[in-house]
Amino acid sequence: MMLRKIPATKPVAPHIEALAGNTRWRVTAAVAQPKIDGASPKVPPRGHDAESETARSQNGPVDVEVHLDRALETDAYTGISGTSFEDLPLTSAADVKAAPARYMTPLHTPAMRVGTSGSTGSPTVVYRSRDEVEENAKGIAERWSTLLPNGPHRVASLLDHNRSAAGLLVEHIMYTLDAVTARLMPYTPSGPNWMQFAEAVTEFSPTVIIATPGVLLDAEHELRALGVFDEIRSTATTLLTLGATNTPAMRRRLGRSWQALVVDGSFGGTECGTIATGCRLGNLHSMVGRGTYEVLIEDGSLVPLAAGVRGELVVTPTLFRHFVLIRYVTGDRVDALSCPCGLDGVAFKVLGRLDDRIRIHGHWIEQAGIEQTVFADPAVEDYQLVADLDDNLTRIEISLLPGSSPAGSTIAATIETKLGVDTAVVDAVSPIARTAGVVKSWARTRVRREVIR
Ligand SMILES: [Zn+2]
Repeated sequence: MMLRKIPATKPVAPHIEALAGNTRWRVTAAVAQPKIDGASPKVPPRGHDAESETARSQNGPVDVEVHLDRALETDAYTGISGTSFEDLPLTSAADVKAAPARYMTPLHTPAMRVGTSGSTGSPTVVYRSRDEVEENAKGIAERWSTLLPNGPHRVASLLDHNRSAAGLLVEHIMYTLDAVTARLMPYTPSGPNWMQFAEAVTEFSPTVIIATPGVLLDAEHELRALGVFDEIRSTATTLLTLGATNTPAMRRRLGRSWQALVVDGSFGGTECGTIATGCRLGNLHSMVGRGTYEVLIEDGSLVPLAAGVRGELVVTPTLFRHFVLIRYVTGDRVDALSCPCGLDGVAFKVLGRLDDRIRIHGHWIEQAGIEQTVFADPAVEDYQLVADLDDNLTRIEISLLPGSSPAGSTIAATIETKLGVDTAVVDAVSPIARTAGVVKSWARTRVRREVIR
């Protein structure tokens, strides 16, 4: 697949290409006609009953017909005309990653080229129009205005703008909220070192810090070593965490250390946009009117996202007019529930990515389950998993916060008993786990593979 080069006019940031506004972007290379029935995963049963309809409507009114019309303009969905939504096949992440351009409609008003962090090894590139970017940011800003304490806000963003589309999104959202935003990313080559970071935080005195959970853990470790953590943590009252591997146990762990309200900001991806935002009770709520949300449950059938449903999240995002996905299988396992917070949308928790699961004595365990056990003791600073090449968990390494009590051996023994895996206390978890803290695949970076002899 080759994309015709459009001359860049005004680069906004290294990962964004501002394209000539009146130039029609299009795919030039011919692609094979899609095999809607053959190339995709199995078509699930229809699950089309009154209960399903009620659940579907709770996800918000979505004009699926308009979306299907757009889909017809793409190479990937050519030929779906006359097919009802319930009969449409699933779209796999692998298919989208292999040829993202097949899912694009001709773009008349291009504004941005956005790439994923490439945390799976292959970044997906999509194009967005200005309206889409603004609409996405506005929707999240409305939700965040209820999530954050009263402003005015000074926001420190620790998201890597070079590798994370979310970094850009956050700036759009904060602009909408009239918040002052500072980019303070200690990982990029041009970014500050930890002491410079500490000085900048002290000077800027952010009320909100936005980062992936892994970065906040890392920052805490580094700032503590420099002796400035107590000063830094006194500035921000709210930590807004982003990233698919954002577990309640991790947020509780961070909240204790940083003495701040830790909330899950949003959930989604470059491919499907923002699917949900967090609430003050620690749950995510689907974005109403932004798409159709379904869950692939254990027996292989597809049901609407509704309280009590657990399985792999499948989304048909309708916000983006130029990058069209139908029944996109996200790879994220979720647990839908009822949440009394009053926010609209369907509430759910993310259990973890399917490809980040690991085996304990033959059983696949999600990251949320492991973190819940490891971080149950407030003395645990961080952890790392050691696995063999077949994803069998062989050892857990934990590091403890300074001055921890009771003794580390007791804590390790408790984890060992609960999970049935050898657990040892180490001085600090391996640096391999820290360097990739900027990307979403924090879970994967926590696993060290070893050949077991
Ligand atoms: Zn809620």
